[in-house]
Amino acid sequence: MTKSSVSDYKHLVVAIDGPVASGKTAVGRELARRLGWKLFDTGIMYRAATWHALRKGVHLDEDESVTELIRDSEFQLTPHSDDESVELDVYVDGDNATPHLRQPEVESGVPTVAAIAGVRVLMVEIQQAQANRGCMIVVGRDIGTVVLPKAPVKIYLDASEEVRARRRAAEQNSGTDEATVLKATQRRDRRDRGRATSPLVAASDAVRLDTSDLSLEQAVDAAEVIIRKRIPDLAPTETTASAS
Ligand code: C5P
Repeated sequence: MTKSSVSDYKHLVVAIDGPVASGKTAVGRELARRLGWKLFDTGIMYRAATWHALRKGVHLDEDESVTELIRDSEFQLTPHSDDESVELDVYVDGDNATPHLRQPEVESGVPTVAAIAGVRVLMVEIQQAQANRGCMIVVGRDIGTVVLPKAPVKIYLDASEEVRARRRAAEQNSGTDEATVLKATQRRDRRDRGRATSPLVAASDAVRLDTSDLSLEQAVDAAEVIIRKRIPDLAPTETTASAS
């Protein structure tokens, strides 16, 4: 087990990993608001890379071509323009990819791009640099294991497949029935857990939090308790001007 301390990184970071619709982003967003931190949802980077490859006409299953494209492209993360927001926008070669990240082609293509080892190496480098820019809740699949292995707090969020499918169906709001969404969720989980590079797995020192029977507020409260236990001197309203 990696021995971690709050001083391993320049700023405080909390790693949150977990499967599709386990509540990572919703919990992470609310925690960031409470603490006055930023939320860095690393999924936006894999989505932006997928969007960029699609617009450049690169076949997503050509690992070398996708990796080369991503290596030659510039990814930038900037705080969302709305002052109230804790989230980051992602730009690729100067273009804001954020509005395009939920497109169906991106949604279906992103697991393929996220499984490319060369792409992951490049993304992880950018993510590690970003995590040094301020106090941050960092959310993804490999944050506690690969991106920030020495994060002082690691939380692995989970929920039953049925609950996650129900949440996902509500999120998508597209009239798709729950059984179809459940199948898609299971497929996505299999790909995330089964890929050769950085598969989704809880870090050995992560605290597991099952949100199946919790409201969002209860899940955030529970996560905040975990954080404050690991970082007892955290101010109640910590703000970090350097996060932006
Ligand atoms: O969390 P989200 O659904 O936005 O993630 C999109 C895709 O990016 C998922 O398929 C997931 O496998 C991948 N991903 C990843 N590693 C991360 C974050 C997301 O492989 N750290």
